[in-house]
Amino acid sequence: MNLNDNVINLPKIGEKKQKVLQNMGVSTIYDLLHYFPRKYEDRSIFKKLNEIKAKEKASVKAKIIRFEKVNLKFKKSIINIYVSDDTSTACIKLFNNNFILPELEKGRYIFFYGQAEENYDLLQFNSPEIEFDKAEKKIGMIYPIYPLSNGIKNSEILSAVKYSIENADMTSLEYLPNEYLEKYRLIPTYDAIKNIHMPKNINILKQSRYRCIFNEFFELNIFLNAQKSNVQKSVGIKFKKSENINDIIKKLPFELTNAQKKVLDDIFSDMNKDVPMRRLIQGDVGSGKTIVAFLSIYNSCMNGYQSAFMVPTEVLAVQHYENALDFFKNTDIKVKLLIGSTKNKAKLYEEIENGEVDVVIGTQALIQEKVVFKNLGLVITDEQHRFGVNQRKKLEEKSNANPDIIVMSATPIPRTLSLVIHKDLDVSVIGELPQNRLPIKTVAERKINEQKVFEFIKKQVKIGRQAYVVCPLVEENYDLDLISVNELYEKLLDVFPKEYSIKVLHGKMKAKEKEDILKNFQENNINILISTTVIEVGINVPNATIMVIYDAQRFGLSQLHQLRGRVGRGDKQSYCVLLYDNANKITMQRIQTLIDTNDGFEIAKKDLQLRGAGEIFGVKQHGIPEFKIGDIMQNIDILEFAQKCANEVMDHMDNRYITNIIETIYSRMNIS
Ligand code: ADP
Ligand code: MG
Repeated sequence: MNLNDNVINLPKIGEKKQKVLQNMGVSTIYDLLHYFPRKYEDRSIFKKLNEIKAKEKASVKAKIIRFEKVNLKFKKSIINIYVSDDTSTACIKLFNNNFILPELEKGRYIFFYGQAEENYDLLQFNSPEIEFDKAEKKIGMIYPIYPLSNGIKNSEILSAVKYSIENADMTSLEYLPNEYLEKYRLIPTYDAIKNIHMPKNINILKQSRYRCIFNEFFELNIFLNAQKSNVQKSVGIKFKKSENINDIIKKLPFELTNAQKKVLDDIFSDMNKDVPMRRLIQGDVGSGKTIVAFLSIYNSCMNGYQSAFMVPTEVLAVQHYENALDFFKNTDIKVKLLIGSTKNKAKLYEEIENGEVDVVIGTQALIQEKVVFKNLGLVITDEQHRFGVNQRKKLEEKSNANPDIIVMSATPIPRTLSLVIHKDLDVSVIGELPQNRLPIKTVAERKINEQKVFEFIKKQVKIGRQAYVVCPLVEENYDLDLISVNELYEKLLDVFPKEYSIKVLHGKMKAKEKEDILKNFQENNINILISTTVIEVGINVPNATIMVIYDAQRFGLSQLHQLRGRVGRGDKQSYCVLLYDNANKITMQRIQTLIDTNDGFEIAKKDLQLRGAGEIFGVKQHGIPEFKIGDIMQNIDILEFAQKCANEVMDHMDNRYITNIIETIYSRMNIS
């Protein structure tokens, strides 16, 4: 039997079970062998009946002394089997199990595993696992428990696995030569697979799990290394640094921070290389990433190439577009906006295709098939953590050369994750905020004290400032105790005098409306903007100094930090008010973290502790396959070790061997 054979070739797996397995992600023998138990029951140690306490799970060997069938109503029945060993007696109860009757015989040995209940001094086992004469299939071993779904039983998976282990040729599972196994103190993959399903003892089980986790991380690292070296081998565009850049920087209304200058140096030096740039710009909210993007785009244009700038929301696209128009106003660089609602797209597509347009700023609308570039040289994605790698790749593929890539994100990635997620990228950090900034003051209030907050907003608006008020819902929802944008709008109209301009912004509005509102807010024609989280990323209105977040208990820590990052973007003191309700301990911890620090990195670390990695970073959406057994947070040591080994193997083994591994790994990951 071959590892690539379909599971239908296994005994007792028919079309129905094949379907069930397929839905569980198991098509081939290889998949089945990598369908790992979720836990184990130690059924290996037999206990005497007088040693077993109530509620304890145990394996027992005993003799049948008597049995009876009790008929109940509706054709139901109970079988009582009384058994004894040389220490005590017990009763096994089986429900509606007539198949067992012919097996029962006084004096016969019975083996069983189950949980003991005490019933008037007599130990009782309800529906335990049973074997007669010999313990070999279910009892007397460390028994694997698989994640199950409807239509297949644990024992069925186990016997399919067992059959595969006994009959499949598993030699190809090992890709490390013996010398490396010894050096890294790893057991062979063959043994690991066998013992992860049918462990001989706890010790070998541990080693097997270690090896399987190692393999997952090792394969991933080989894969990422290979991708990186592919990029390094490919020929990119060599952009010269435009002589005008320094002039433009001088004319900016502010002096660039040292961190921004350093990042720009990295970028221009990358752009100047033959190898395509793959750079992540990581900078906390408000650190000034946009200007870095514009200057890079400028450089690409001066070299005669087009640029694409992709962002996750329409409002952000509009804002970047407006700013870009301003930035490029004294040049002959032509900038266009492309979002879902853009009018006369056909004409725009044409202009992009024939090269009349130099810079396109937009949402995912940019990656649609109809968008064809004449000579795309630079691709930037903003708020990268909102996109999947695939979306980024689609945009890259719109170039007939190998374009330079910049991805920008405010969400710092903890070291553990960056080992896998951003391995194919070089990282530049903007580790400081512009000089003129004051730390945002954050306070928390119960929702019932909102009046206090209204008074505060009134005062701030009187001295010319603006406020955001964010809430989780658009419309009222009577099931939830949450305030909606519309409700709040009614309320604030009541609370504030007529001369205060209050407006609403949410995702369901038409693009044109959103655009108008945002523009008016930017020009300070709106004092208070009530909004959903559509303003969460990227929006920049430095005169807005108050961020009120309703039902703060509903938002994640990183999300709250992003929302708060909408203020404190200029030289004026800014405030963030978290209004909460029904707060539990975790909520209060989140809120306290925000009060204590403005540092995005600290906050991301805390968020990780409170929520776990998968949820925050959506490992899958970063194009990384989900791990079957490894856990990047729990198994960081193995991850680092596997990375070291992968690098070593790739540096030292000959090319044929490496190509072989890579091909195997690609085929398993279904990547070509
Ligand atoms: P983010 O990194 O969150 O995307 P932005 O690029 O939107 O930040 O910049 C936030 C604000 O800071 C903008 O108004 C921008 O003009 C301003 N800014 C950027 N760099 C500087 C700087 N070096 N000094 C002062 N203000 C700056
Ligand atoms: Mg930004």
